[in-house]
Amino acid sequence: MTQNTITLNNGVAMPALGLGVFQTPPDVTTTVVDQALHLGYRHIDTAAAYANEREVGEGIRRAGIARDDVFIETKVWISDYGYDETLHAFDKTAGKLGVDQLDLFILHQALPSAFDRTLAAYRALEELLADGKVRAIGVSNFMPEHLDRLLAETTVVPAVNQIELHPYFQQAELQKLDAASRIVTQAWSPIGGITSYRESAKSTFDDPTILEIGRQHGKTAAQVMLRWHLQEGRSVIPKSVKPARLAENLDVFDFELTTAEIADIDALDTGVRGGPEPDVITLETFGRDIPEA
Ligand code: NDP
Repeated sequence: MTQNTITLNNGVAMPALGLGVFQTPPDVTTTVVDQALHLGYRHIDTAAAYANEREVGEGIRRAGIARDDVFIETKVWISDYGYDETLHAFDKTAGKLGVDQLDLFILHQALPSAFDRTLAAYRALEELLADGKVRAIGVSNFMPEHLDRLLAETTVVPAVNQIELHPYFQQAELQKLDAASRIVTQAWSPIGGITSYRESAKSTFDDPTILEIGRQHGKTAAQVMLRWHLQEGRSVIPKSVKPARLAENLDVFDFELTTAEIADIDALDTGVRGGPEPDVITLETFGRDIPEA
């Protein structure tokens, strides 16, 4: 049985399954986080750019869970890249969350057109790690060329690379590269939420192979997908605002997919990305002000 804990490359333990809160509106975030923690979630993934860090912090306090028992992961937005800017981004984020220390602080995107700023931002994360203000650091949406350059020009190997990863878009080569450097691959849109946002697109929730595997185990499509990630060693951060789905998405530790079932899901990869191509992310197109705490 896969346990709900992954040990990062610096020895820090991270609950493998967390709650994502992208597109969770600020006015319901406190309630959702409180409900999730009561259901047993112990890992929340937010970001400065989601504009709900304050409400995440409030939800954790409302749940009455000890700070040490919740793993808080958040992300620096590209507008705050640069050494001093990213150090200040930590103050903004920690202030909004109402905590002194973050468990995992990651760069939200590479900025290919301003990679020196990306590197300076990462060096600020290294400084925050050395100062004990964060327990682990990492990246998100880093493609092989970004990782290669980061590894060549900085000191601390990222603990995590959070990337789009669901049955229809699996990025096998990037996963191999992460593994070779002992970087945990963390799946965003792990149940393929992004495949269901456009009506024209084929949704992972309706996939006949996944549904049939679920039928064999008495589990839903979402549960099968989450179990597939966990058995392949990935961290997952499914998002829901609905209590029944929060519970469903956590209820994945009492069954085991067979090797053949895992291979059947591996075979569903289409190679088609749902999110933006990481190379089109520029300050001009995606920059936005992140408010002070
Ligand atoms: P998910 O794969 O988590 O899917 C979420 C969608 O599926 C929502 O529409 C949700 O609706 C619905 N859903 C949730 N549970 C179930 C279920 N059991 N059955 C059917 N439908 C369900 O996709 P996301 O894109 O939200 O990604 C998850 C997290 O990943 C984000 O919250 C964020 O933390 C992170 N992320 C990071 C990105 C990055 O660039 N680093 C980019 C995108 C996401 P409802 O809420 O109504 O239940």
